[in-house]
Amino acid sequence: MGLSRIIGQDRAVGLLRAAFESGRLSHAYLFHGPDGVGKETAALEFAASLNCEKGALSGCGECPACRMAAKLSHPDIHLIFPAPRDMKPAEESWVLEGYVREGHRHLRAWHDKTPPREKLARKHTIISVETVLTRLVAKANLRPYVGPWKVFILADADMMTVEAANTLLKTLEEPPEMTVIVLTTSRLSALPVTVVSRCQKIQFARLSREAVEEILVADPKLGFDRAGARSAAALSGGSAGEAVRTDRRDFEAELDRVAAIMTGERAGEVGSLLEEAEALAFRLGRADQQRVLDLMLLWYRDVLLLANAGPGASRPEVLYSRHVGALERQARVMDVDATEPLIRKIDDARRAIERYSNPSIVFTSVLLDIAIARRGVTTGGKASYAA
Ligand SMILES: [Zn+2]
Repeated sequence: MGLSRIIGQDRAVGLLRAAFESGRLSHAYLFHGPDGVGKETAALEFAASLNCEKGALSGCGECPACRMAAKLSHPDIHLIFPAPRDMKPAEESWVLEGYVREGHRHLRAWHDKTPPREKLARKHTIISVETVLTRLVAKANLRPYVGPWKVFILADADMMTVEAANTLLKTLEEPPEMTVIVLTTSRLSALPVTVVSRCQKIQFARLSREAVEEILVADPKLGFDRAGARSAAALSGGSAGEAVRTDRRDFEAELDRVAAIMTGERAGEVGSLLEEAEALAFRLGRADQQRVLDLMLLWYRDVLLLANAGPGASRPEVLYSRHVGALERQARVMDVDATEPLIRKIDDARRAIERYSNPSIVFTSVLLDIAIARRGVTTGGKASYAA
């Protein structure tokens, strides 16, 4: 429990531990880095560890302070997050309960409960000056109830209004004793420089694929088995939050669509190929386009896994488990030499999309290469592609 629970952020956790052990804890920290890599979780575990009754940042998970912290009911640990202006206290506790239950903030579920017209009005979530005044400033100047530390966590602090940031600034300039304020953000440049300069910055990095997989299986609340965690991690872009958001059923549908492209079931003939390229180019956003390209790469990874397994060996675990027959057919005729140029091509396409190249041209070119390689394979085996 405690900070030792944080997976894949050794550097950030090390800095916090070193500061505590040397008695040089800063009064304000700014955890910055991509979405979904553990900034809020680390802030909450840090808060719990500071208040653990065993001391020394143990975060034992068993003492009353740790148990209260885990339920977000510790009177000295305050989690503040952006909310619509008209959010009612009951709705807020509903979001917090969801956090405790599911291990991540789930604003979407709360939105789903709201009627559509109201939903639109609630689109803009902020951290208001009232929130900063009542939830932070007023409480920061009181003594801790249980103690020893009062910890205020401002999640997505870049959503503070200018007024809210100016109000916070005063507290940052004259920090109360035994108080730690932790700001988190994935958009460092959106925070006022005056606020940033008053905080000690701690960078959270993108997670490795292995770390995401570990995070997903380590927390039973997230509901992943090992195979599901591995697939989700492969596509998470180093963000456990992104992996959690990936709905399992949508994911299978995505795999089916890409598999159909890779086998020629879709985009097999020139006409349908152009149609498919246009659909990918115009119906998907940039992030989804890159995701499709990632999925294409993972298809060839599966092909190579099977190609390298050799006869008699036990079948390796593949991502496209529902399409293992088609994978095996390609694996029989395609080896590293045949797939390497395609993998390079898809990799280049990914970069091209990143640089805002024309997606229609990019996808047409990729789908053509895939189709040519497939045709080469069906008519003459490996050699005809190379020729
Ligand atoms: Zn404890």
